[in-house]
Amino acid sequence: MQKGILPETMKTIAAVLTEINRPLQIEELTIPPLKKGQVMVEIAYSGICHSQLNEIHGLKGEDKFLPHTLGHEGSGIVLEIGPDVTKVKPGDHVVLTWIKGSGHDAPSTQYSRKDGNIVNSGAISTFMEYSIISENRLIPIPREMPLKEAALLGCAIPTGAGIVMNTARVQSGNSVAVFGVGGIGLSAILAAKMMDAAIIIAVDIREQKLIQAKEIGATYIINASQQDVLETIQTITGGQGVDFAIEAAGQKETMETAFESVKDKGGLSILAGNLPTGHQISIDPFDLIKGKRIIGTWGGETDPDRDILTYVGHFLSDRLNLSFFTSDIYRLDEINNSFKDLESGKVNRALIEFL
Ligand SMILES: [Zn+2]
Repeated sequence: MQKGILPETMKTIAAVLTEINRPLQIEELTIPPLKKGQVMVEIAYSGICHSQLNEIHGLKGEDKFLPHTLGHEGSGIVLEIGPDVTKVKPGDHVVLTWIKGSGHDAPSTQYSRKDGNIVNSGAISTFMEYSIISENRLIPIPREMPLKEAALLGCAIPTGAGIVMNTARVQSGNSVAVFGVGGIGLSAILAAKMMDAAIIIAVDIREQKLIQAKEIGATYIINASQQDVLETIQTITGGQGVDFAIEAAGQKETMETAFESVKDKGGLSILAGNLPTGHQISIDPFDLIKGKRIIGTWGGETDPDRDILTYVGHFLSDRLNLSFFTSDIYRLDEINNSFKDLESGKVNRALIEFL
Protein backbone atom coordinates (compact mmCIF):
# COMPACT_ATOMS: atom_id res chain seq x y z
CA MET A 1 0.00 0.00 0.00
CA GLN A 2 1.24 3.48 -0.85
CA LYS A 3 1.73 5.68 2.15
CA GLY A 4 -0.51 8.67 2.63
CA ILE A 5 -3.48 7.52 0.56
CA LEU A 6 -5.25 5.32 3.05
CA PRO A 7 -8.83 4.45 2.09
CA GLU A 8 -11.49 5.84 4.42
CA THR A 9 -12.46 2.46 5.74
CA MET A 10 -9.55 0.15 5.95
CA LYS A 11 -9.88 -3.54 6.52
CA THR A 12 -7.53 -6.10 7.94
CA ILE A 13 -7.32 -9.84 8.20
CA ALA A 14 -6.91 -10.91 11.82
CA ALA A 15 -6.78 -14.06 13.93
CA VAL A 16 -9.52 -13.70 16.53
CA LEU A 17 -10.14 -15.58 19.76
CA THR A 18 -13.90 -16.09 19.81
CA GLU A 19 -14.18 -18.66 22.59
CA ILE A 20 -11.85 -20.24 25.15
CA ASN A 21 -10.21 -23.46 23.93
CA ARG A 22 -11.25 -22.91 20.33
CA PRO A 23 -8.85 -22.44 17.41
CA LEU A 24 -8.37 -18.80 16.43
CA GLN A 25 -10.71 -17.69 13.66
CA ILE A 26 -9.24 -15.87 10.66
CA GLU A 27 -11.57 -13.06 9.70
CA GLU A 28 -11.78 -9.69 8.00
CA LEU A 29 -12.28 -6.70 10.29
CA THR A 30 -12.89 -3.02 9.63
CA ILE A 31 -10.36 -0.68 11.23
CA PRO A 32 -11.78 2.35 13.07
CA PRO A 33 -10.27 5.87 12.77
CA LEU A 34 -7.19 6.47 14.91
CA LYS A 35 -7.70 8.07 18.30
CA LYS A 36 -5.24 10.22 20.23
CA GLY A 37 -1.96 8.41 20.83
CA GLN A 38 -2.71 5.55 18.42
CA VAL A 39 -0.61 4.40 15.50
CA MET A 40 -1.56 2.18 12.56
CA VAL A 41 1.16 -0.31 11.74
CA GLU A 42 1.52 -2.69 8.83
CA ILE A 43 2.73 -5.78 10.63
CA ALA A 44 5.77 -7.51 9.14
CA TYR A 45 6.33 -10.33 11.64
CA SER A 46 4.63 -11.38 14.84
CA GLY A 47 6.09 -13.63 17.49
CA ILE A 48 3.93 -16.18 19.25
CA CYS A 49 4.44 -17.10 22.87
CA HIS A 50 3.00 -19.09 25.74
CA SER A 51 1.06 -16.05 26.98
CA GLN A 52 -1.29 -16.38 24.03
CA LEU A 53 -1.57 -20.13 24.63
CA ASN A 54 -2.62 -19.30 28.19
CA GLU A 55 -5.18 -16.82 26.87
CA ILE A 56 -6.59 -19.37 24.44
CA HIS A 57 -6.85 -21.96 27.22
CA GLY A 58 -8.48 -19.47 29.57
CA LEU A 59 -5.68 -19.82 32.14
CA LYS A 60 -5.58 -16.08 32.82
CA GLY A 61 -8.96 -16.13 34.52
CA GLU A 62 -12.33 -15.07 33.14
CA ASP A 63 -12.01 -13.41 29.73
CA LYS A 64 -14.47 -10.52 29.62
CA PHE A 65 -13.23 -9.24 26.28
CA LEU A 66 -14.20 -12.09 23.95
CA PRO A 67 -14.14 -11.97 21.01
CA HIS A 68 -10.74 -10.30 20.81
CA THR A 69 -7.54 -10.03 18.82
CA LEU A 70 -4.21 -11.04 20.34
CA GLY A 71 -0.44 -11.17 19.91
CA HIS A 72 2.00 -9.00 21.85
CA GLU A 73 5.34 -8.90 20.04
CA GLY A 74 6.16 -8.03 16.48
CA SER A 75 7.70 -5.70 13.98
CA GLY A 76 6.32 -3.55 11.21
CA ILE A 77 6.16 -0.27 9.36
CA VAL A 78 4.18 2.75 10.53
CA LEU A 79 1.40 3.63 8.08
CA GLU A 80 -0.45 6.42 9.83
CA ILE A 81 -0.29 8.24 13.15
CA GLY A 82 -3.21 9.50 15.22
CA PRO A 83 -3.45 12.89 16.96
CA ASP A 84 -0.61 13.85 19.34
CA VAL A 85 1.72 11.02 18.34
CA THR A 86 5.33 12.26 18.26
CA LYS A 87 7.41 9.11 18.81
CA VAL A 88 7.08 7.72 15.28
CA LYS A 89 6.11 8.89 11.79
CA PRO A 90 4.79 7.09 8.69
CA GLY A 91 7.48 4.90 7.12
CA ASP A 92 9.33 4.26 10.40
CA HIS A 93 10.34 0.69 11.13
CA VAL A 94 9.21 -0.31 14.59
CA VAL A 95 9.37 -3.07 17.17
CA LEU A 96 5.98 -3.76 18.78
CA THR A 97 6.14 -4.80 22.39
CA TRP A 98 3.68 -5.44 25.22
CA ILE A 99 6.11 -3.78 27.62
CA LYS A 100 5.16 -0.14 28.17
CA GLY A 101 7.65 2.50 27.07
CA SER A 102 7.43 6.25 26.52
CA GLY A 103 4.54 7.89 24.70
CA HIS A 104 0.77 7.94 25.04
CA ASP A 105 -0.93 5.01 26.72
CA ALA A 106 -3.79 5.02 24.22
CA PRO A 107 -7.20 3.50 24.87
CA SER A 108 -8.15 0.06 23.59
CA THR A 109 -9.64 -0.39 20.14
CA GLN A 110 -12.76 -2.02 18.78
CA TYR A 111 -12.71 -3.44 15.28
CA SER A 112 -15.97 -4.37 13.59
CA ARG A 113 -17.06 -7.44 11.72
CA LYS A 114 -19.09 -7.51 8.50
CA ASP A 115 -22.28 -8.07 10.54
CA GLY A 116 -21.52 -4.99 12.65
CA ASN A 117 -20.46 -6.93 15.74
CA ILE A 118 -17.44 -5.76 17.68
CA VAL A 119 -14.06 -7.43 18.16
CA ASN A 120 -12.07 -6.04 21.09
CA SER A 121 -8.37 -5.24 21.03
CA GLY A 122 -5.98 -4.02 23.70
CA ALA A 123 -3.13 -1.54 23.43
CA ILE A 124 -1.25 -3.98 21.18
CA SER A 125 -2.33 -6.81 18.86
CA THR A 126 -0.03 -8.42 16.34
CA PHE A 127 -1.91 -11.39 14.87
CA MET A 128 -3.24 -9.18 12.10
CA GLU A 129 -2.05 -7.52 8.88
CA TYR A 130 -2.76 -3.96 9.97
CA SER A 131 -3.09 -3.08 13.60
CA ILE A 132 -3.79 -0.09 15.80
CA ILE A 133 -1.08 0.11 18.44
CA SER A 134 -0.71 2.45 21.39
CA GLU A 135 2.25 4.84 20.94
CA ASN A 136 3.93 3.53 24.12
CA ARG A 137 4.15 -0.04 22.73
CA LEU A 138 6.24 1.03 19.73
CA ILE A 139 10.01 1.46 19.49
CA PRO A 140 11.42 2.98 16.30
CA ILE A 141 14.48 1.07 15.08
CA PRO A 142 17.13 1.73 12.43
CA ARG A 143 16.39 0.38 8.97
CA GLU A 144 19.51 -1.82 8.97
CA MET A 145 17.79 -3.98 11.58
CA PRO A 146 15.99 -6.80 9.70
CA LEU A 147 12.28 -6.91 10.58
CA LYS A 148 12.30 -10.68 11.07
CA GLU A 149 14.82 -10.59 13.91
CA ALA A 150 13.35 -7.28 15.15
CA ALA A 151 10.06 -9.04 15.96
CA LEU A 152 11.82 -11.09 18.64
CA LEU A 153 12.87 -7.96 20.47
CA GLY A 154 9.26 -7.35 21.57
CA CYS A 155 8.98 -10.18 24.09
CA ALA A 156 11.26 -13.22 23.78
CA ILE A 157 14.54 -11.35 23.98
CA PRO A 158 13.66 -8.50 26.38
CA THR A 159 12.17 -10.86 28.95
CA GLY A 160 14.98 -13.43 28.95
CA ALA A 161 17.86 -11.03 28.42
CA GLY A 162 16.31 -8.39 30.69
CA ILE A 163 16.22 -10.88 33.56
CA VAL A 164 19.96 -11.40 33.14
CA MET A 165 20.93 -7.77 32.52
CA ASN A 166 18.40 -5.79 34.63
CA THR A 167 16.89 -8.12 37.24
CA ALA A 168 19.88 -10.32 38.13
CA ARG A 169 22.59 -7.95 36.85
CA VAL A 170 24.78 -10.91 36.04
CA GLN A 171 28.48 -10.05 36.11
CA SER A 172 31.47 -11.67 34.50
CA GLY A 173 32.37 -14.85 36.41
CA ASN A 174 28.90 -15.48 37.92
CA SER A 175 27.09 -18.82 37.84
CA VAL A 176 23.59 -18.95 36.35
CA ALA A 177 21.11 -21.83 36.09
CA VAL A 178 18.24 -21.50 33.64
CA PHE A 179 15.23 -23.76 34.22
CA GLY A 180 13.20 -24.31 31.08
CA VAL A 181 14.92 -23.49 27.80
CA GLY A 182 12.12 -22.32 25.53
CA GLY A 183 12.26 -18.85 24.00
CA ILE A 184 12.79 -16.96 27.25
CA GLY A 185 15.24 -19.47 28.71
CA LEU A 186 17.33 -19.52 25.54
CA SER A 187 17.46 -15.73 25.39
CA ALA A 188 18.54 -15.68 29.05
CA ILE A 189 21.38 -18.04 28.13
CA LEU A 190 22.35 -15.82 25.18
CA ALA A 191 22.49 -12.81 27.51
CA ALA A 192 24.38 -14.69 30.24
CA LYS A 193 26.97 -15.57 27.62
CA MET A 194 27.06 -11.94 26.47
CA MET A 195 27.78 -10.93 30.09
CA ASP A 196 30.59 -13.53 30.39
CA ALA A 197 28.98 -15.70 33.07
CA ALA A 198 31.48 -18.45 34.01
CA ILE A 199 28.93 -21.21 34.59
CA ILE A 200 25.70 -21.37 32.59
CA ILE A 201 23.56 -24.40 33.42
CA ALA A 202 20.53 -25.27 31.29
CA VAL A 203 17.87 -27.48 32.89
CA ASP A 204 15.06 -29.06 30.89
CA ILE A 205 13.51 -32.46 30.20
CA ARG A 206 13.71 -32.09 26.42
CA GLU A 207 17.03 -33.35 25.07
CA GLN A 208 16.71 -31.33 21.86
CA LYS A 209 16.30 -28.06 23.77
CA LEU A 210 19.30 -28.92 25.92
CA ILE A 211 21.43 -29.52 22.85
CA GLN A 212 20.37 -26.11 21.51
CA ALA A 213 21.09 -24.49 24.88
CA LYS A 214 24.61 -25.89 24.72
CA GLU A 215 25.08 -24.64 21.16
CA ILE A 216 24.18 -21.07 22.10
CA GLY A 217 26.27 -20.88 25.26
CA ALA A 218 25.24 -23.19 28.13
CA THR A 219 28.36 -24.67 29.74
CA TYR A 220 26.45 -27.53 31.41
CA ILE A 221 23.14 -29.18 30.62
CA ILE A 222 20.96 -31.18 32.99
CA ASN A 223 18.16 -33.43 31.79
CA ALA A 224 15.77 -33.27 34.76
CA SER A 225 14.03 -36.47 33.70
CA GLN A 226 17.29 -38.42 34.04
CA GLN A 227 19.43 -36.57 36.59
CA ASP A 228 18.92 -35.24 40.10
CA VAL A 229 18.93 -31.50 39.38
CA LEU A 230 19.94 -30.21 42.82
CA GLU A 231 22.66 -32.78 43.29
CA THR A 232 24.11 -32.05 39.84
CA ILE A 233 24.08 -28.28 40.42
CA GLN A 234 25.82 -28.82 43.77
CA THR A 235 28.49 -30.90 42.05
CA ILE A 236 29.00 -28.35 39.25
CA THR A 237 29.31 -25.45 41.71
CA GLY A 238 31.53 -27.26 44.21
CA GLY A 239 28.73 -27.55 46.78
CA GLN A 240 27.89 -23.83 46.67
CA GLY A 241 24.78 -23.55 44.56
CA VAL A 242 24.44 -20.96 41.80
CA ASP A 243 24.51 -17.17 42.10
CA PHE A 244 21.33 -16.90 40.03
CA ALA A 245 18.56 -19.32 39.08
CA ILE A 246 16.06 -18.24 36.45
CA GLU A 247 12.79 -20.15 36.23
CA ALA A 248 11.23 -19.96 32.76
CA ALA A 249 9.44 -23.31 32.67
CA GLY A 250 6.28 -22.15 34.42
CA GLN A 251 6.06 -25.26 36.63
CA LYS A 252 5.55 -25.48 40.38
CA GLU A 253 8.32 -28.06 40.86
CA THR A 254 10.90 -26.15 38.83
CA MET A 255 10.09 -22.94 40.72
CA GLU A 256 10.76 -24.74 43.99
CA THR A 257 13.92 -26.41 42.69
CA ALA A 258 15.21 -23.12 41.25
CA PHE A 259 14.88 -21.53 44.69
CA GLU A 260 16.69 -24.41 46.39
CA SER A 261 19.48 -24.38 43.80
CA VAL A 262 20.85 -20.93 44.65
CA LYS A 263 23.69 -20.44 47.11
CA ASP A 264 23.07 -19.47 50.73
CA LYS A 265 23.88 -15.88 51.73
CA GLY A 266 22.63 -14.02 48.72
CA GLY A 267 21.82 -16.47 45.92
CA LEU A 268 18.88 -15.13 43.95
CA SER A 269 16.13 -17.10 42.24
CA ILE A 270 13.96 -15.25 39.75
CA LEU A 271 10.56 -16.51 38.62
CA ALA A 272 9.69 -15.60 35.04
CA GLY A 273 7.23 -18.42 34.35
CA ASN A 274 3.54 -18.26 35.23
CA LEU A 275 1.32 -20.76 36.99
CA PRO A 276 -2.41 -20.96 36.32
CA THR A 277 -4.37 -18.47 38.47
CA GLY A 278 -4.67 -19.66 42.08
CA HIS A 279 -1.83 -22.22 41.97
CA GLN A 280 0.83 -21.90 44.66
CA ILE A 281 4.40 -22.98 45.34
CA SER A 282 5.89 -24.16 48.60
CA ILE A 283 9.32 -23.28 49.97
CA ASP A 284 11.21 -23.99 53.19
CA PRO A 285 11.47 -20.77 55.24
CA PHE A 286 14.82 -21.93 56.64
CA ASP A 287 16.25 -21.50 53.14
CA LEU A 288 15.21 -17.83 53.36
CA ILE A 289 16.89 -17.56 56.76
CA LYS A 290 20.07 -19.00 55.24
CA GLY A 291 20.00 -16.14 52.75
CA LYS A 292 18.52 -17.64 49.62
CA ARG A 293 16.30 -15.08 47.91
CA ILE A 294 13.33 -15.37 45.57
CA ILE A 295 11.68 -12.71 43.46
CA GLY A 296 9.48 -12.50 40.38
CA THR A 297 10.10 -10.49 37.26
CA TRP A 298 7.86 -8.38 35.07
CA GLY A 299 9.32 -8.71 31.59
CA GLY A 300 12.90 -8.61 32.82
CA GLU A 301 12.37 -5.07 34.20
CA THR A 302 12.84 -3.93 30.66
CA ASP A 303 12.85 -0.28 29.73
CA PRO A 304 11.97 -0.88 26.08
CA ASP A 305 13.11 2.55 24.88
CA ARG A 306 16.58 1.83 26.24
CA ASP A 307 16.92 -1.96 26.08
CA ILE A 308 15.47 -2.78 22.65
CA LEU A 309 17.94 -0.42 20.98
CA THR A 310 20.72 -2.04 23.04
CA TYR A 311 19.74 -5.46 21.65
CA VAL A 312 19.55 -4.01 18.12
CA GLY A 313 23.13 -2.81 18.64
CA HIS A 314 24.23 -6.24 19.88
CA PHE A 315 22.52 -7.93 16.93
CA LEU A 316 24.00 -5.59 14.32
CA SER A 317 27.48 -6.14 15.74
CA ASP A 318 27.05 -9.95 15.76
CA ARG A 319 27.09 -10.34 19.53
CA LEU A 320 23.49 -11.52 19.70
CA ASN A 321 22.68 -14.57 17.62
CA LEU A 322 18.95 -14.81 16.94
CA SER A 323 18.96 -17.52 14.29
CA PHE A 324 17.58 -20.15 16.69
CA PHE A 325 14.41 -18.15 17.01
CA THR A 326 13.75 -17.39 13.36
CA SER A 327 13.69 -20.83 11.78
CA ASP A 328 9.98 -21.54 12.28
CA ILE A 329 7.92 -19.25 10.08
CA TYR A 330 4.18 -19.58 9.51
CA ARG A 331 1.57 -17.63 7.56
CA LEU A 332 -1.35 -16.12 9.45
CA ASP A 333 -3.76 -18.82 8.24
CA GLU A 334 -1.41 -21.46 9.74
CA ILE A 335 -1.45 -19.82 13.16
CA ASN A 336 -3.37 -22.64 14.86
CA ASN A 337 -0.70 -25.11 13.70
CA SER A 338 1.99 -22.86 15.09
CA PHE A 339 0.30 -23.04 18.50
CA LYS A 340 0.27 -26.83 18.33
CA ASP A 341 3.98 -26.86 17.48
CA LEU A 342 4.76 -24.43 20.30
CA GLU A 343 2.72 -26.43 22.77
CA SER A 344 4.38 -29.72 21.82
CA GLY A 345 7.82 -28.12 22.11
CA LYS A 346 8.57 -28.74 18.44
CA VAL A 347 9.57 -25.09 17.95
CA ASN A 348 11.31 -22.49 20.17
CA ARG A 349 9.52 -19.51 18.91
CA ALA A 350 7.06 -19.45 16.07
CA LEU A 351 6.98 -16.36 13.87
CA ILE A 352 4.07 -15.28 11.70
CA GLU A 353 5.19 -13.64 8.47
CA PHE A 354 2.94 -11.06 6.85
CA LEU A 355 4.96 -9.19 4.23
ZN1 LIG B 1 5.26 -12.98 24.93
